[in-house]
Amino acid sequence: MNPDKMKTLTIVGGGAAGWMTAIYLNKVFNSQQPNFQINVIESPDIGIIGVGEATVHSIRYFFAAMGLDENELLRATHATLKTGIMFRNWMKPVAGQVHQYFHPFEQQQLGQELDMSSCWLLGARYRQERYDEGVSISAHLIKQGHGPKARQSAPYQAVVPYGYHLDAVLLARFLRDSAVAAGVAHIADTIVDVSVADGNISAVYSTTASYQADIFIDATGFKGLLIEALQQNNWQSFADALPCNKAVAIQRPHSDDYQPKPYTVATGLSNGWAWQIDLSSRQGTGYVYDGNRLTPEQAEQELRAWLGPEAAELQARHLEMKVGCRQQFWLGNCIAIGLAGGFIEPLESTGLHLINLGARLLSTHLSQGTVAQTVRDSYNTAMNGFYQDLKQFIVLHYCLTDRDDTDFWRQAQATAASCAGLPEKLQLWRHKICEYHDLAGGYATTFTDENYRYILYGMQHYPALQFQSGEGLQQPFTQLQHRVQQVLQRTVPHADYLQQLAQQS
Ligand SMILES: Cc1cc2nc3c(=O)[nH]c(=O)nc-3n(C[C@H](O)[C@H](O)[C@H](O)COP(=O)(O)OP(=O)(O)OC[C@H]3O[C@@H](n4cnc5c(N)ncnc54)[C@H](O)[C@@H]3O)c2cc1C
Repeated sequence: MNPDKMKTLTIVGGGAAGWMTAIYLNKVFNSQQPNFQINVIESPDIGIIGVGEATVHSIRYFFAAMGLDENELLRATHATLKTGIMFRNWMKPVAGQVHQYFHPFEQQQLGQELDMSSCWLLGARYRQERYDEGVSISAHLIKQGHGPKARQSAPYQAVVPYGYHLDAVLLARFLRDSAVAAGVAHIADTIVDVSVADGNISAVYSTTASYQADIFIDATGFKGLLIEALQQNNWQSFADALPCNKAVAIQRPHSDDYQPKPYTVATGLSNGWAWQIDLSSRQGTGYVYDGNRLTPEQAEQELRAWLGPEAAELQARHLEMKVGCRQQFWLGNCIAIGLAGGFIEPLESTGLHLINLGARLLSTHLSQGTVAQTVRDSYNTAMNGFYQDLKQFIVLHYCLTDRDDTDFWRQAQATAASCAGLPEKLQLWRHKICEYHDLAGGYATTFTDENYRYILYGMQHYPALQFQSGEGLQQPFTQLQHRVQQVLQRTVPHADYLQQLAQQS
C-alpha cells in the first residue's frame, strides 16, 4: 500500500487493553502488507491498574494466534496454569462443612443416550458427590495436584482446557515488547486534552505535542478520557445487579514448601468475596466488596483477618471499580476498549477476555474506507450483548445463595430481578435441565449452558426431573472414572510442570 494512503490508528493507554488491541490489530491488518500505522500513547506517569491476574481459557487462542511463545510468556509473567475456579462459602455450610464447588473450563463429557448432566440428576448423584466431580475430569486433576498438561503437550495444548494466572504488570510489559517488535510505535506521553469536531476526535494533546489519527482507541482505563470527551452520559451502571464496587488487594509471598494451585479460589466473605490467585512467585489476594456496606478500612481488616497473622505487615492497595459498560462503545472515530469500555466484577476473570472480544470484533468491523454508521451500530450491539450476557452469568453466582448472615447476602438473592428473563429461567430450571437453547439468542461466547450447569448445580439449584431412570445411568460415570485414571497417568503435577518451565530458561 502507498504509505500516503495508510490510515493512522492511535491507541491511548498502555495497559492490557492498549497492548492486546495493538498486537492483535497489527497482526490482522499489517502482517501481509501495512494498512494501518498503529501507535500506542502510554503515560509514563499514570500507572496501569495491574490487578487482572486470572484469565479464562480462550485467552490461550489469542496468545497463540499472536504467535507468542507460550513458555516465554509464562516465564516472563510468573504465570501458573488455571483449570477453573473453586467457589467457597457461597452458600450456608453443609453438615458443618464449608460449601464449595468447582467451575472448570472443561466441556462436559458425552453420555450415550442421555447427556451426562441428565444422568447425574436422574441418578440423584447430588446425594453422594459434587456435580463438578461427577461430570468433569478437571475436578479430579486438581485433587491430585495435577495441572492440565501432559508430559508431551505442545505449546497451548493440554488434556483439559486451561487459562492462566499471571502478573498483570509483567503481562502488559511482555505484550508491549512483543507489539513493538512487530512494528507498533510506542509513544511515552500523557494526554491532557482532547479536541472534538463533528462528533469525531480530531486530535489529542500532551503538554508538548499533538497527535492526529483516523481512528482513536480509548484504552485509558476507567476514566475513558477520549470516549467521555465525545459524549458524556454514555454509561450504563450495573450497580443494581452487581453491587460490589470496591476492592482491596494484598500480595503475599509463598512459603518455601508452597505449591501453587492450578485454580483460582473465590471465597464468600461478609459483604463480597475474596480471590486467591497463585503465581509462581507469589499469591495475589483481594476482597471485592460492596462499598455501600463496608468502609475500605473495614474491608482491609476483614481481608487481613481472613488471610491470617502473616498478612499483618503486608501492604494493601485499595481500588475503586466502575461496574457497567458504555451504551456506545464506538462513537465517531473512537472505540473504547478495556476498562474504558466497561467492567464486570472479576468473579469469572473476564477482563482480558472482554478486551479480546472487543479487539477481534473491531478487526472485522474496521476497514480502510469510511466507517458507515451501520458498522458502529453492529459493533455496539454486539459489545452490549457480551456485557449484558456476562452480567447475567455473574448474577447467577449470587442470586442462588441461601446465605442470610448479612444484609449483603440476603439482598443478593434478589439480584436475579435485575436481569431481564433470569427469574423465569431460574423457575424453568427447577423443572428441566439447563440447555443451550434456553440461552440461545443471547451473546454467550464463553459461558454457555455447560457453564451455567456448573453454577446452577454447584449452588444446588436442581430440577426435579419427573421420569423413570433406565439402567444406563451409571455407565457414563464409570467411563469417566476410567478416563480420569488414564488422564492422571498422562498429566504432570502442576508443581513439576512449573519447575521444569523455570529450568528451561
Ligand atoms: C479488582 C480488580 C480485579 C481484576 N481482576 C481481573 C482478573 O482476574 N482477570 C481479568 O481478566 N481482569 C481482571 N480485572 C480487569 C483488568 O484489570 C483489566 O481489564 C485490564 O487490566 C485492562 O485494563 P486497561 O488496560 O483497560 O486499563 P489500565 O490498566 O488502567 O491502563 C490504562 C492505561 O492508560 C494510560 N493512561 C491513562 N490516562 C492517560 C493519559 N491521560 N495519557 C496517556 N495515557 C494514559 C495509563 O498509563 C495506562 O497505561 C480486574 C480489575 C479489577 C479492578
